[in-house]
Parts: sequence; structure tokens; C-alpha cells
Amino acid sequence: AQSYLSRIEATRELNAFVQVQPELTLEQARAADARLAQGDASPLTGVPVAHKDVFVTRGWQSTAGSKMLAGYQSPFDATVVERLTRAGMVTLGKTNMDEFAMGSSNENSAFGPVRNPWDTHAVPGGSSGGSAAAVAAGLAPAATATDTGGSIRQPASFSGVTGIKPTYGRVSRYGMIAFASSLDQGGPMAKSAADCALLLNAMAGFDERDSTSLQREDEDFTRHLGQAWRPENAADKPLAGLRIGLPKEYFGAGLADDVRAAVDAALKQYEALGATLVSVSLPKTELSIPVYYVLAPAEASSNLSRFDGVRYGHRAAEYRDLLDMYKKSRAEGFGPEVKRRILVGTYVLSHGYYDAYYLQAQKIRRIIAQDFQEAFKACDVIMGPVAPSVAWDIGAKGDDPVQMYLADIYTLSVSLAGLPGMSVPCGFGAGQSAKRPVGLQIIGNYFNEARMLQIADAFQ
Ligand code: GLN
Repeated sequence: AQSYLSRIEATRELNAFVQVQPELTLEQARAADARLAQGDASPLTGVPVAHKDVFVTRGWQSTAGSKMLAGYQSPFDATVVERLTRAGMVTLGKTNMDEFAMGSSNENSAFGPVRNPWDTHAVPGGSSGGSAAAVAAGLAPAATATDTGGSIRQPASFSGVTGIKPTYGRVSRYGMIAFASSLDQGGPMAKSAADCALLLNAMAGFDERDSTSLQREDEDFTRHLGQAWRPENAADKPLAGLRIGLPKEYFGAGLADDVRAAVDAALKQYEALGATLVSVSLPKTELSIPVYYVLAPAEASSNLSRFDGVRYGHRAAEYRDLLDMYKKSRAEGFGPEVKRRILVGTYVLSHGYYDAYYLQAQKIRRIIAQDFQEAFKACDVIMGPVAPSVAWDIGAKGDDPVQMYLADIYTLSVSLAGLPGMSVPCGFGAGQSAKRPVGLQIIGNYFNEARMLQIADAFQ
């Protein structure tokens, strides 16, 4: 913990953390040492972890990257934090993020952008940019993150770390500051799939305080690591029998050449490991952007109505009456992207537009989920790029939100379908972008995380 804290201090310019409290961290580390000495330890005891600032943490600030919650102290821990703390992990700090997890570059944070450690002119991706940068720069061996439309996978890809968004409902949303509740899902980021599996063991599990938490038996996500795909055929190559589906919509015209080359090289390596590549189709991929950018803002507009200056967070200093207080507090507390989403969300939910936008989007969401089930008839996992390009320059898409939304094309449908998806580092861009990482996306069917982690681990 001490050495990570020193590294965090020495790399302040990355802006990966919004809060550190060295004394608190070291106190927790000493407690973990004591547990280790008593032999009362889990594999994670004493391992430091950085928490995305969307998870509420007792004794720390919990801001979700917003001025609205600057200085806010939660009286309780999010389930994710509670579970990892119980396993003996040591909290290193709270990581920077796009405000209320809305964004793909971390530039929407009220606490300033995060720099990509590989190339400090580049964004680290978002919204979990601080967590990704922290793991990439060796400021933390592991971090928590959340993914609503790509926010674990895309920053993992841009920052060259491994991250997994589990099946919707695996990881409790209790104490995760809500963005779009039907999509929000927590997960780990780390250097490797094996580390992610260990972290997921501690993070996942039923929680009666989250109404969409899955009631399933606990499983060991490390159980397939290092095994062959068909362990009964000892003479096989490690992944013989594995069918990898390549959606043709993920390899179309919008994909940058350098990303395509890195993903193709990874797929060649999978073939060498014994896997077979098959072509599949996810016909509604393009529609995932308008569908997501109707549904997520709709849910956000509802979730964010609780920030009214009364119950939590920022309250305007001067106001005439109650309504004026609401208006001023929200006008001052929320940043521009959050306001944009609240406007879109309230519009698509309003009388007269609900049927045309919200209901239509819900119907297409269902079709998107069905298309994946069709594709999984021909393959065991789906692979493709995480994002159409490597990380862009800080500021490059800042004034054009639609350009930023379009960059989410390969991650949104997985979230809409509630499927597990992960990003595994598979190389770098070319030319000017030679220092910017590329991630390979692995998409599994519901509850197939252990197999996805096995497949990722075989590549690493
Ligand atoms: N980039 C997407 C958005 O801005 C996804 C963010 C996320 O997954 N939290 O909404």
C-alpha cells in the first residue's frame, strides 16, 4: 500500500484519483497484515484496490465525478466495497470518472480530465477512466469500475488493461450511484484475466438490497483458468473445439485500420490455440446507438431527480423559494453533458413522445438481445474490437457529443442485452498512435464469465 501511495503521489498529473487518504489506507493495510499473521486470510487480503468514485464509501468522499456531490460523505459502503473490504482488500483511494458515468473519455468529470499513462496527450477512455489509468500506470493492482454502455470495456481497451462487465445482475448495484439502472453493472479492472477472476469471486453474489440482483449459487470464476477448452481431449490444442463468432457488423467501414490489424492478429493467435472462427451477424448493431441514447438518458433523468439540493449534495447559496432553490442547485451542480441527458431523457418520457421514442427503443432493445441468442447458436463466444479507434487526443471530441456517442458502437448492444463482455489488451495502434493500446472484446452468453476469463487467460 505504501509503495502504491508513493506512486500515486508521484503521478499526480495523471489526475487518476479524486481522493487519497494515506493514513486511512495504511491503517487498513496494518489490519490486513494482522489478519494474514493470524492465518485468517483470503487470496485478496492485503491487496490494495482503487474504487471508482461511483461506489459510495464510508469515511471517504463519494462524488460520482460531479460538483453536485463534491464533499459528499456516505453513511454506508456500497455492497461491492463492503465485499472487497471483507475479503481484506485495502482501499487506496477513489478514482476519477465522467460525471455520473456519462461519457467515453473522462473529460466530463467535474474534477478535470484524466491522462492516459501510455501517451499523456490521449484520453484514458471513460467513464471509468481513473480506474483504467490507475491500473495501467501501476498506481493500483486492481480497481473497481462500472459499465452502463461500455465504461469498463472501453477505458480498459484505451488504457491497455483487462476489464470485465459481468452479466447484468451479477454484481450488486447497492451503493453504486445510479445512472441507468437497467444497464448499470459493476466489475473489476486489473492487469490480467486471472486477477479479474479473483476479484469477481469477491464482488459477485446475490444481494437482497438490489432488486435486480441475481439469485444464483456462488461460483468460482477461476475454475477454468489454465484448462483446455475440452479437458477430456488431452491431445487437443488448448482451445480446440472453441467456436469464435465474428459479427460482420463489427468489422465494417467505421473500424480504423490499426485497430482492425491488432484484432486480426489476436484472432490468428486464437486460431493457433485451436479455436475456429465463424462469421455471425448482429444486424441491429447500428441501432444500438439511438436505442441506448434514448433509454439511458430516460433512466438517468429519473435517477437524477433525487439531486434536488434537499436530500444530498450541492445547494445554491441564495434562492427566492423552493422551486428557485431546486433550479439553481441543479443548474450549478450538474455539468453540461448531464444536463443534456436530463433534457433528452425527460423529453423522450414526456406525454406524446413516449410511444414514439421510449417504447420504440424498448422494442428494439428486445430484438438486439434476441439477435445475440441467434448468433450464439453458431458460436461459443463472440469477438471483435471494443472501440472503432484507439484513444483520441484530450479535447478532440470535447465539443461534439454525437461524435463521442458514435464511438460506443461496439459496446452498447452488449449492455442493452445484459450480456457479459470484456476487454483484453491485444496490441497498439499504428503511426502517430503507436503508443495507444487496442483491446479485444470478448462477449459471452449469460453467466459465461468463467469461460470468457478462461479464453482471455489462454491468450495472455
Ligand atoms: N459512453 C457511454 C455513455 O456515455 C457509456 C458510459 C457508461 O458505460 N457508463 O453513456
